[in-house]
Amino acid sequence: LNKVCWFFPKANKSTSVEYKPIKSILVANRGEIAIRVFRACTELGIRSCAVYSQQDKMHMHRQKADESYLIGAGLPPVEAYLSIPEIIRVAKNHIDAIHPGYGFLSERSDFAQACVDNGVRFIGPSAGVVQRMGDKVAARQAAIDAGVQVVPGTDNPVISEDEAMQFCVKHGLPVIFKAAYGGGGRGMRVVRELDEVRENFRRATSEAKAAFGNGAMFIEKFIEKPRHIELQVLGDQSGNVVHLYERDCSVQRRHQKLVEVAPAPNLDPKVRDAMAADAVKLAQFVGYENAGTVEFLLDNRGNYYFIEVNARLQVEHTVTEEITGIDLVQSQIRIAEGMTLSELGMTQDKIVPQGCSIQCRVTTEDPAKNFQPDTGRLEVFRSGEGMGIRLDGASAFAGAIISPYYDSLLVKVISRAADLHASAAKMNRSLREFRIRGVKTNIPFLLNVLENQKFLNGTIDTTFIDEHPQLFH
Ligand code: ADP
Repeated sequence: LNKVCWFFPKANKSTSVEYKPIKSILVANRGEIAIRVFRACTELGIRSCAVYSQQDKMHMHRQKADESYLIGAGLPPVEAYLSIPEIIRVAKNHIDAIHPGYGFLSERSDFAQACVDNGVRFIGPSAGVVQRMGDKVAARQAAIDAGVQVVPGTDNPVISEDEAMQFCVKHGLPVIFKAAYGGGGRGMRVVRELDEVRENFRRATSEAKAAFGNGAMFIEKFIEKPRHIELQVLGDQSGNVVHLYERDCSVQRRHQKLVEVAPAPNLDPKVRDAMAADAVKLAQFVGYENAGTVEFLLDNRGNYYFIEVNARLQVEHTVTEEITGIDLVQSQIRIAEGMTLSELGMTQDKIVPQGCSIQCRVTTEDPAKNFQPDTGRLEVFRSGEGMGIRLDGASAFAGAIISPYYDSLLVKVISRAADLHASAAKMNRSLREFRIRGVKTNIPFLLNVLENQKFLNGTIDTTFIDEHPQLFH
């Protein structure tokens, strides 16, 4: 692997960005996030366009757009949504902009570039920024150069067991191995003993190769019992950046988020301000445009460390919307049209968080069976709605077929109330109103989380689920 030297241009301070309205948007995604974006389009008077795989022919997201096109006929289910030529074929000549959603092509710089090359606007950061942020080593270097504290880690992608061993001997254990070009918690391994380094490295690198097509690893000191705190940022095309406060995503299973809370409970205001300032500083330093998330780990002594930037909208963007009253997807679209943050009324002093919002990811997984995904026909579906509850979903209705082809997210339930306790009470009430038959869900597990005293005290960290096996019963 060549060592890549990134050049970070100073953010363009010109305020003379031309305003070019967007009349049509294609969402290169499926499920709830596609519908989330279509809704924003409709509200802004923009024509929405869906693409769908053969397996999604009957899927709800296809119905919710103004027009829809089959892509990747003959391709396996996931491949259809990863086919850049197929998506460009649909968009070219009659679509103004593409929203990538999350997952699939959302963090692929070649996709962002292909859009631009074909005269379609990409609703997200520039291809260059997507590329740098998707490379954990380059993103880390950017943080270091911007003056943001990072976890001690390798300066280059590591490809050999010997290099891994050297790092561990020099910096001490425990460490965490991560896929340098990966995400979603896959290819990650914690190593606590020197004689486990080689074996774990071999496994992690082959997992990364299988999942991301590249076995390069990145090694970091493992922070014991951290909280995962992330900052939502928005940047416009004129170099202005604001933050929309933080989310606490410490309720995780195998490094994947299950419940998210905004703002983070029990967070020292000084730490919050410092993290927010660092997130803005980093985004400005790399010339970040559009919506993004800067992720940090916070240890129990109040030290925090940058871990990565997600250069896209996140699954948990909803809780930020609930506490700030700002529609992030509409903002993304307006920014892509060339509007400045101040034209959108989003100067930092005007962004004021209120109350507390929680998001639960209701999935068709059976916690009692090690979260195995369940599939089949939803025979009965009734949801819990009412004041302070928002539901973002796609496949949650009686008669829907839950297929094994895609992720198992059924519906995102988002609550909002004055504080953590009131928000948890609303969520609890809503989840208890759900009646779902035909597939198993993780609702009983989510209820156990919501009723757990540590969760309600706001004193949990990322080891919470592992250390509380009673949550599964
Ligand atoms: P991904 O890109 O796969 O989402 P991240 O780097 O965002 O990976 O990390 C996901 C989660 O893994 C974090 O929220 C945290 O729980 C855990 N993690 C990552 N790096 C470390 C670390 N250095 N020490 C402890 N936990 C970590």
